[in-house]
Amino acid sequence: MCGIVGYTGYREAYPILIKGLHRLEYRGYDSAGVATLGEDGKLKIYKAVGKVVNLEQQAEGNDHSGTLGIAHTRWATHGAPNERNAHPHLSQSGKLTLVHNGIIENAGILRQQLSSKGYTFKSDTDSEVMLQLIEYTREKHKRDLASSVRAALKKIIGAYAIALIDEDSPDTIIVARKSSPLAIGIGENNSEYFIASDASPIAGYTNRIVYLEDDQIAVCRRGEELQIMDFNAMRVEVDAKEIDLDVSMLDKGGFPHFMAREIFDQPAVLRECMRGRLLTAHRRIVLSAVSGHREDLIGARRFIMVSCGTSWHAALIGKQLIEEYCRIPVEVAYASEFRYSNPVVGPGDVVFAISQSGETADTLSAIQLAKERGALIFGIVNAVGSSIARASDTGVYIHVGPEIGVASTKAFTGQTTVFAMLALALGREKGTVDEKTYEAVFSELENIPNKIQSILDRSDEIKAIASAYAGKRNVLYLGRGMNYPVALEGALKLKEISYIHAEGYPAAEMKHGPIALIDEDMPVVFLANSCGQYEKILSNMQEVISRGGDVIAVVTEGDTRVKEIVDKVIEIPDTIDSLVPLLSVIPMQLLAYHIAVAKGLDVDQPRNLAKSVTVE
Ligand code: GLU
Repeated sequence: MCGIVGYTGYREAYPILIKGLHRLEYRGYDSAGVATLGEDGKLKIYKAVGKVVNLEQQAEGNDHSGTLGIAHTRWATHGAPNERNAHPHLSQSGKLTLVHNGIIENAGILRQQLSSKGYTFKSDTDSEVMLQLIEYTREKHKRDLASSVRAALKKIIGAYAIALIDEDSPDTIIVARKSSPLAIGIGENNSEYFIASDASPIAGYTNRIVYLEDDQIAVCRRGEELQIMDFNAMRVEVDAKEIDLDVSMLDKGGFPHFMAREIFDQPAVLRECMRGRLLTAHRRIVLSAVSGHREDLIGARRFIMVSCGTSWHAALIGKQLIEEYCRIPVEVAYASEFRYSNPVVGPGDVVFAISQSGETADTLSAIQLAKERGALIFGIVNAVGSSIARASDTGVYIHVGPEIGVASTKAFTGQTTVFAMLALALGREKGTVDEKTYEAVFSELENIPNKIQSILDRSDEIKAIASAYAGKRNVLYLGRGMNYPVALEGALKLKEISYIHAEGYPAAEMKHGPIALIDEDMPVVFLANSCGQYEKILSNMQEVISRGGDVIAVVTEGDTRVKEIVDKVIEIPDTIDSLVPLLSVIPMQLLAYHIAVAKGLDVDQPRNLAKSVTVE
């Protein structure tokens, strides 16, 4: 979940490492650390609890020179988030230092074994155990460091991406991975190497990137060719990709928070997501994954969606779109439940993996299992070249640019847009969507970015409503049909960044339990914009009002009936029922954002969360 950065080359390592940590800080942020190796041949290590700025303060004025270094932001799994447990860790001899992303499941037993051999530990982490095991292996077998890493990793059960440096080898970083992402940027003529958990810290330095695969070790020695080997010491061919990452997307673009930028960027990034796919002149939708796997998709027994968090909500929308336009049955599963449930899945099934980062550990394991059982894997991912993208047989990138704010916004609308295009394209191939409907949804997709913009233009009205809710303890979100997943997403956004307890429910379910909670202290957000069941949702609203509940209603522009009974109303443009979530989720995002800002909270990096959930 955390971030790793490394550099070996001819430039000062420290500024590159710190800048890289800032770009990765969204992944995990309870503490941070950096190690550099200077000309004096001595390792310099600095660590601090909290954000990367604290680390910078710690290192300021001290020696952090050197052209080799590694750095880390941590999301603790073993041991409290304090300085002692922050990475990089130092080996018993003081020669080796390591940063680790992931979790070691057999750390306890390895710790005992190493203790009985005289090793002592300065931290409570699993990562230090891994480092001492590497050192022990090297000393016992008197082998070179890469072979010792390989031998030690064979004894380790768990997930890891590591970067390791040796005081006696001032130009080399050794890296390895299993289940946690690791990218290597290659400088011109191998003069320098950049290591990072994703491509963002490498952007701007080089476009040549190698994504390490599971069970691979790489030796990055400046001036020499990159060496990659598997755990059996077999050399692996280096497959560098040219990745064009837009560095301008990695800052706040004038907004106070990444999340604000990402909310307000949605019209532009959704145009990007549809560009080259929604062919306006030809009235065709071109998705190579659909044309390339036409028969598999049309002939599928059923689709199964596996995902987590916000992506799971997008999958609930995807289900409704695909069932409506393609008449293919769709199941939606939490990836974490699916993978341990001995699922009935096999040839003839298509398993969709939906993940912003493409590194979500549970989703990755779920598709590995489905693949073993013969299903076709279809990835819907944002991060290009990520583990899920690579593990999928086919798929569609959502192309909304890096999402840094921990609470997902533009990835959700990107995923929903991809599902709409997919359902329409596939429905046409299958003959289950008639021309009139196809044309109506197609045209409306073209209008969606402008309609989102018109909601964003009313952000201040939503802010005014939000200001009254900063002190609340609970909020209920209700919606029906396409707006039910939006109610779930609205509640999740609020929980994530404002720490207010919130629940999303299908509106009709309210009377089967949650209605008992209604009183003047229980705000209820109603998604009452027209979505097929307007009269029903109006009745549900009456039920809340008659029990003294405090209602905020999202309605379609021009609505008069809700306004007669509710004074806090957010208007959004009208749209086709199946595309409603693309509009109704925008006020949900803005409401959560403004409430969290009103509470003075850290919107981009809420407590306890991490962006890329690479642990189970
Ligand atoms: N398991 C390690 C720790 O608790 C690494 C966690 C991380 O990925 O940041 O220190």
